[in-house]
Amino acid sequence: MSIRVVLVDPNHPGNIGAVARAMKNMGLSELHLVRPKAFPHAEATARASGADDVLDAARVHEEFDDAIADCGFVVGTSARKRYMSFDLVEPRECAQLVAEAAQVGNVAIVFGSEKYGLLNVELSRCHRLVTIPTAGDYASLNLGMAVQVIAYEIMLATRAGAPAMPPPEVPFATAREMELLYEHFERVLEEIDFRDRTGGGHLMARIRRLFNRSRLDQNEMNILRGILTAVQSRRRTAGKTASS
Ligand code: SAH
Repeated sequence: MSIRVVLVDPNHPGNIGAVARAMKNMGLSELHLVRPKAFPHAEATARASGADDVLDAARVHEEFDDAIADCGFVVGTSARKRYMSFDLVEPRECAQLVAEAAQVGNVAIVFGSEKYGLLNVELSRCHRLVTIPTAGDYASLNLGMAVQVIAYEIMLATRAGAPAMPPPEVPFATAREMELLYEHFERVLEEIDFRDRTGGGHLMARIRRLFNRSRLDQNEMNILRGILTAVQSRRRTAGKTASS
């Protein structure tokens, strides 16, 4: 099972190189880039200084969902603490959770663009949000530096001799499976004419938030899918009885 670093909309190729170097220092090798502005690029190679293997193996995606599809645990990173809906964790606690989850599935640590950070659509896929504490209000680290700090803690938590975390009994549902669950949910809510009372069409966002917080495992996801399917088939048979 693997731990990957995902950079969403990285703007400066130099930062991509710095990230590759920071990762290699800490034993991480899987770099995923979502819509990089310029890659490959001489600046990235220069800043990677010896971590070219990480750059060469980097995977480029057009869609964020493709970068995390097979991951059972997705951690977002942010300098800002305005995301009230998340349980914020610090890098050390985050590394423990990552070490635990990586025993049974793939893990993604997601970093935002230098300009905007992570947007709501990416945050809506994250199970936890990690903030590197800083002194005072000047909280925004350079992208490469932020990866360095998070990767360092992950290295400490996963290296030989680190206290072993008991693996979760059942693997977590992957991001792709969760998307299928949300699609299913939406279909059923429509079929039963469930009214969105959140004022502003936030129902699905709230449902996502609820499930992200609880981090469903495969069994739990299967139970929910089973319930949704049962609702649909019950409605179909009820419809038949009513019209016959
Ligand atoms: N202007 C952006 C800052 C982006 S910095 C904003 O306001 O969000 C680029 C990325 O580095 C961030 O998206 C995040 O992934 C990471 N980062 C920077 N500072 C961080 C911090 N203190 N804690 C966690 N991640 C941080």
